[in-house]
Amino acid sequence: MSFQTILNADLHCHSVVSDGTLTPEALARRAKANGVELWALTDHDEIGGQHRAAAAAQAQGLAYLTGTEISVTFAAETVHIVGLGFDADDAALRQGLHKTRGGREQRAREMADSLAKAGIPGTFEGALKFVSNPELISRTHFARFLVESGVCRETSEVFRKYLTEGKPGYVAHRWANLKDAVSWITGAHGIAVIAHPGRYKFTANEEYALFTEFKAHGGRGVEVITGSHTRQEFVKYAETAREFGLAASRGSDFHSPDESHTDLGTLPYLPGDITPVWELLADRIRK
Ligand code: AMP
Ligand code: MN
Ligand code: MN
Ligand code: MN
Repeated sequence: MSFQTILNADLHCHSVVSDGTLTPEALARRAKANGVELWALTDHDEIGGQHRAAAAAQAQGLAYLTGTEISVTFAAETVHIVGLGFDADDAALRQGLHKTRGGREQRAREMADSLAKAGIPGTFEGALKFVSNPELISRTHFARFLVESGVCRETSEVFRKYLTEGKPGYVAHRWANLKDAVSWITGAHGIAVIAHPGRYKFTANEEYALFTEFKAHGGRGVEVITGSHTRQEFVKYAETAREFGLAASRGSDFHSPDESHTDLGTLPYLPGDITPVWELLADRIRK
């Protein structure tokens, strides 16, 4: 493989090990069928699917990088940090992710209490029906239950009406520190990447602080081409990558054939003048 920007890399997606609906094996097959040339599975706060994903990629003849997406609290907002190309057996990384997952059950019970007060009972048990990994109950599982039970027509409507700040099912939560999340990844010989920066509700100053602190902690990359960005944001965050000297990543953030609007491997390529994250990870790619 040559390390050009013109590569169908998809370095962000989710399996049943977090809040996706497909298994790591089904995702590997789908990535291959869609023409993906380099793939990473990036489950939320969890690397329990990494060995399965790597084996499935190998069976498909698909180059693979280890991945995860860590939930972080920065400036009172939730920020996601993608880790790529780390050693999935690293003890400190595993411990850090375990701790980050730890608050999810209690948060889910509080979300269910809050929804019950708003007249929607039974959502903790309901969400659990959609959960494969008992340590990883997420808002997405609540959204699937509220669609199944007819409260909303689609998951995006559930988030709009119930699961976001100021709405009845929303519970504020303290995730990992930025510094810790970056250290867990880099300590395991991976690289840290700011996920979908266009999604955060930051002022320009807060966003500048995020990028500055992230770099100071050893962060190396930013998602430029992601299913969460508009075309204008592709341009904006390519410029941010150049300004901060960060490598650029590309990933669909695919969760489910029924819910995701961006399929694996279908986004535009990275701009040609920018360093792709896979150039920094050449020796970590498993073929
Ligand atoms: P959690 O980590 O439990 O807070 O859940 C976050 C997940 O919810 C994200 O990774 C997305 O998969 C999903 N999500 C967040 N916002 C939305 C939205 N507006 N529409 C659909 N899914 C969303
Ligand atoms: Mn998700
Ligand atoms: Mn995310
Ligand atoms: Mn994601």
